[in-house]
Amino acid sequence: MGFWAMKDDLQHFLRAIPSMDELLSLPWVEQLEIEMGREAVKSMFNEVLTDVRRMARDGGADLSSPVLDLVCEQAKRLMSRRASASLTRVVNATGVVVHTNLGRSPLPDVALEAVVSAAAGYSTLEYSLEDGMRGHRNAHVEWLVKQLTGAQAALVVNNNAGAVLLSLAATARAREVVVSTGELVEIGGSFRIPDILAFSGAKMVAVGCTNCTHLRDYRDAITEETAVILKVHPSNYKIEGFTESVSREDLAALAHERGLIFMEDLGSGLLEPLNVRDLGSEPTVRDCIEAGVDIVTFSGDKLLGGPQMGCVAGSAELIGRMRGNQLLRALRVDKMTLAAFEVILRLYLKGKSDDIPTVAMLRADDRTLRERAEALCGAIRSVLDKKSIASVDVESTATDDAVGGGSYPTSRLPGWGVSLSMPGGVSAEKFAARLRACRVPVVPGIREGKIVFHVRTLQKGDIERISGAMEQIF
Ligand SMILES: *Cc1c(COP(=O)(O)O)cnc(C)c1O
Repeated sequence: MGFWAMKDDLQHFLRAIPSMDELLSLPWVEQLEIEMGREAVKSMFNEVLTDVRRMARDGGADLSSPVLDLVCEQAKRLMSRRASASLTRVVNATGVVVHTNLGRSPLPDVALEAVVSAAAGYSTLEYSLEDGMRGHRNAHVEWLVKQLTGAQAALVVNNNAGAVLLSLAATARAREVVVSTGELVEIGGSFRIPDILAFSGAKMVAVGCTNCTHLRDYRDAITEETAVILKVHPSNYKIEGFTESVSREDLAALAHERGLIFMEDLGSGLLEPLNVRDLGSEPTVRDCIEAGVDIVTFSGDKLLGGPQMGCVAGSAELIGRMRGNQLLRALRVDKMTLAAFEVILRLYLKGKSDDIPTVAMLRADDRTLRERAEALCGAIRSVLDKKSIASVDVESTATDDAVGGGSYPTSRLPGWGVSLSMPGGVSAEKFAARLRACRVPVVPGIREGKIVFHVRTLQKGDIERISGAMEQIF
């Protein structure tokens, strides 16, 4: 086709684009107008029209097909997506327990009840029932954190990134912070130790090499300007081979001998040992405090198994300084989070950490997982039998699960699952896309061209949800 012919086609196509009035009078638009309002529908049509014009100019549209059909097809897809809830429940069948993209830690029913009750009415968020005066939101959990960690004081903020930022801003602004080169961690792109140090107003002094940092490296870097020695948990990576790092005890002794603060970003924040054979031992917050760390920061929704938040535990004097910092106001935790966190902490206090889903999933034993895989296998087979589908192979299989959340990056956590192999022509990726499009979307693992539902991360009711997805697909 020549240049001029193409141009004619294009002009013809563009001229045939329907007007807004025409579009708004289409019968299927009425319901969407009721759901979202006329202005929103108009703005979405405008988005589609801009897109269609651009596609036509870039050669991405079939200029010989009816324009109205193309516009309607695109608009229906966009509008149905925008009309449905965006943040919705999914089934995590990936076997990754602390799955950051899927919301990290699910909460137990007792925590949900507390969230609903705090959110549905008024609460004692900043109110003291004893004297009818103003109270402090932090007070609901501070004693519990102190009790569970041995710290003198504790403060909660929006997340661990906030806890690190607040701690540094309150203790090291315009001063130097000594940190090992091997611990300059990046967590999920947006949290990088060098950047957070710079943002807090502190000056980073990186010492040692990637694989080895010695006590003398820290000692030699201390100047009049030094305020803090910082230790960072290398959560999501592991340096192996010829390595050396300095123990907490030695760093604490050095810091205190020189009148410095010893701070640790612990990341996950275990409150008690996990005691899972396949996972090595990780320090708890209490271990850090006992080793002489002045300030420990950690997440609420990683291995701790609570809501998204960050916690600072440690010296009363230093945490007092943080209470007076303006940043705290910007990082403060809301009532729903506090309500859930308090319940989670009380479960630890009672010795009932097995009631916390994240902890329970990590501790789930081989037999439990195997039985759950058998149950899921049976449920899927009965859907397939009912629909007389014989071409899909369903069997339980051993799996490799993962802790996730940047914890235990190299540990293999053996688990169980159910694998599905599709008849010819349907790739596992295609089938996974169908699972994601179900009423309750299911996010599976994929291994060697097969769909694998890892059962470790399934919650109450998820076997029925997966069966429901199968009913929908087949
Ligand atoms: C996860 C992690 C963070 C960030 O915590 P958020 O709660 O996600 O803000 C910071 N430091 C370390 C070492 C971590 O593992």
